[in-house]
Amino acid sequence: MTELIHTDCTNYDPKTLIHGVKILREGGTVVFPTETVYGIGADATSDSACFKIFEAKGRPADNPLIAHFGSIGDINRYCFWDMVEKRKELEMLWPGPLTVVVKKRDLISSVASAGLDTIGVRVPDCDFTRSLIQNAGFPVAGPSANISGRPSATSILHIKEEMWGRVDLMYDAGRTRIGIESTVILPEGENCTVLRPGAYTEEDLLRIFKTVSYAKVGGKTMSPGMKYRHYSPSKKLYRADPEILIKVAENNPKVLPIVSTELGERINGNKLVLGKKSDPVSISRNLYSFFRELDGSPYEAGIIESFEEKGYFFSIMNRIKKASIPITEMADFK
Ligand code: AMP
Ligand code: MG
Repeated sequence: MTELIHTDCTNYDPKTLIHGVKILREGGTVVFPTETVYGIGADATSDSACFKIFEAKGRPADNPLIAHFGSIGDINRYCFWDMVEKRKELEMLWPGPLTVVVKKRDLISSVASAGLDTIGVRVPDCDFTRSLIQNAGFPVAGPSANISGRPSATSILHIKEEMWGRVDLMYDAGRTRIGIESTVILPEGENCTVLRPGAYTEEDLLRIFKTVSYAKVGGKTMSPGMKYRHYSPSKKLYRADPEILIKVAENNPKVLPIVSTELGERINGNKLVLGKKSDPVSISRNLYSFFRELDGSPYEAGIIESFEEKGYFFSIMNRIKKASIPITEMADFK
């Protein structure tokens, strides 16, 4: 049976923590809010608790979980954090949407790390969740709270549709602020590899590291999760530059446009407006919920705006590209 408790990331009643702490200590699963997307959490030091996460999500066993910490000071007890040369600089980005892959100690379950000797660690920017983890007394393994292959969930409504009956408890703290998953990096001395782009951008990382490179799909250092189909709506989603998109929208009433505020002003008729290009976080915040809205709509397919891959839009486009089929002219549109 699943229970639901309403809370808030900043203004929460500490009493709302008690039930979640109890379930985590008993080896159960708890859906928790973060600033990126919702997570499904369990004791990261327990094989059997972590196994329940894989089962609930239908997640492939070779895709490791992220270990969430309530406090930076606890990380070194569970991982070789002190070996990370740029740790002090990286700590300045926490709490925040950054996951750092680091050598794990034996305390971390090898189910959580999918048999690897490393684990992704993160301190989420949600006071409630950090307090939940602190009170549990161990790091909480938590991938995104969605069935494997579906878009990550940014509100409890979506999680209820998929995960009700599959987890012990859900905390509802409203919609998440950022809406796409954390930046995952592998630091190696003064250099780092981005395994998954996110809200912390290349520019942010270049303030810390001499070089920033990107993991190749299929490459050795790749984040195992990136090889799986991800982030996608069930319906066909096309992507196109603004001029093509406008033409498609004008000629195909069965296709739902998903566009920035700016482009939306040039399109008559129904559309989903992501947000202003000058405020990219407003765009990432709506992205996955619009994928789900497309699936639940009477439209046959969707068409989403292609953005220039600069700054944070590089990360937004990373998710859009995984979810959509590019079209460059009207003839491509079937
Ligand atoms: P999720 O929490 O569902 O967004 O997935 C966690 C992401 O972090 C996946 O893409 C994982 O492959 C990645 N990740 C976690 N631990 C590691 C690790 N030890 N090495 C590489 N990638 C990792
Ligand atoms: Mg995920």
